[in-house]
Amino acid sequence: MNQQGRPTTAEPVDARRETFTGNRALQIEEPLLFEIGRHDVSGVDVDAPQTKGNRLGARRRTTPIDLPALSEPEAMRHYVRLSQKNYAIDMGIFPLGSCTMKYNPRLNEAVARLPGLSDIHPLQPPASVQGALELIHELGRWLIEITGMHSVAMSPKAGAHGELCGMMAIKAALAAAGETRTKVLVPESAHGTNPATAAALGFTVVHVAESGDGTVAADDVRAALAEHEGEVAAIMLTNPNTCGIFEPDVVAIADAVHEAGGYFYCDGANLNAIMGKAKPGDLGVDAMHINLHKTFSTPHGGGGPGAGPVVLSERLAPFAPLPLVARDGDLYHLIEHASENGGQSFGRMTAFHGQMGMFVRAYAWMLSHGADGMKQASEDAVLNANYIRAGLEDVMSVSYPAHRAMHEALFDDRFLKESGISTLDFAKAMIDEGFHPMTVYFPLVVHGAMLIEPTESESRASLDLFVATLRDLVFAVKDGKTERFTEAPRFTPRRRLDETRAARQPVLKWTRPEPYRDAAE
Ligand SMILES: *Cc1c(COP(=O)(O)O)cnc(C)c1O
Repeated sequence: MNQQGRPTTAEPVDARRETFTGNRALQIEEPLLFEIGRHDVSGVDVDAPQTKGNRLGARRRTTPIDLPALSEPEAMRHYVRLSQKNYAIDMGIFPLGSCTMKYNPRLNEAVARLPGLSDIHPLQPPASVQGALELIHELGRWLIEITGMHSVAMSPKAGAHGELCGMMAIKAALAAAGETRTKVLVPESAHGTNPATAAALGFTVVHVAESGDGTVAADDVRAALAEHEGEVAAIMLTNPNTCGIFEPDVVAIADAVHEAGGYFYCDGANLNAIMGKAKPGDLGVDAMHINLHKTFSTPHGGGGPGAGPVVLSERLAPFAPLPLVARDGDLYHLIEHASENGGQSFGRMTAFHGQMGMFVRAYAWMLSHGADGMKQASEDAVLNANYIRAGLEDVMSVSYPAHRAMHEALFDDRFLKESGISTLDFAKAMIDEGFHPMTVYFPLVVHGAMLIEPTESESRASLDLFVATLRDLVFAVKDGKTERFTEAPRFTPRRRLDETRAARQPVLKWTRPEPYRDAAE
């Protein structure tokens, strides 16, 4: 307190600070654990140890250990307050294009927590986990049925891991045929994991241009195959693609790649747009990962967990990774060794069978939907994306109006032209309105991309509010209310961050401010 008894804040009051505490109503300002921790308290209340001398000698610590000490309620509140800073699909629409952030019904969580499914160990004898093995087998059977493929490898743990699995199967198949093909075709619009996977396996990535309408043209693929004759191991194609368009030439592309001796790897992350409507197996796909954490709900984001089973064509099936769950009459067992399975498996992707918890959630979701419900989920996902597109197309710029949107609607920044407002500014202003922004600046093939994927789990009322909010923002752009964008977000605990600097010069270690350090010593 100063001389007049007026309290002062711990931190210097910055110009933007509008409250004494720095809190914004019930959004509590949250410093780092090290900043709120002290040396003089402890979360535990134990007597000082009765030490008999010290055997560390010169190694004995002379400075404070410098860990943040807090009482139990302080520690608890810190983490609960941090958790409340997360935006989540359970709080509102999460319109990230390509990420398929759909609601995960609580039923799935309840089933995943059944002790017979959650309290088991992968090293238990198969006889004691028949139900779990049956669930993996049944889920795999459904995935084969939905995709029209020959077999499935359940163990990959995410989409990108599935890509690695599928491409390793392709590499193994080529090696078995005595071929060394070193190149992989990847369209410009691909998800970054596609070229990364190919490169990680030692392939050279050959880019195929987008044809001007957001699709990949069979002629461009044929030209690339001709230019790199005999060298192309595979094409990695996403369908529907990352512009939200079903590739019209997909069958011709598959045929051309097969004729040239290559394989068709399909990035199946967008299966939620075609599930129950079109089977990738009918389109000539050889290998495809399925993001269970996208198409079949199950939680994701923040780094996991996910599950990326890979469906394979008959030609690639012998090379699938182990273990595989097999059925023998009424009993299920694990194929653990290549010798039990034709001897051509390329090995293992993980120690065990995959993400059991995700399998349970996906299977619960499938059973509760049924075949007709899954088909309707795709239809509703596509309907919702087109509803958003129709609600915004007169005021925002639809990137590829010639094609109907599938599960996501792609806009670009042409409608912001000459306003001085960028895609990033526009997205930040959405945060002030309580929305998580859409995916921005991806796919790279359009300038200032805004990719919106509502998924089927949003109601019409939710979509209407989203559309009305974006329309209001567009009119604010037109009215020249620039500060609503360039100053955004205005109502968050942290404002506009220097993201470029944060990415280029990441500060990964916190150092205690000088005055405190002096006081501690
Ligand atoms: C999400 C996604 C991936 C990667 O999946 P992860 O589970 O995040 O590894 C790959 N391709 C596309 C098109 C995706 O949307």
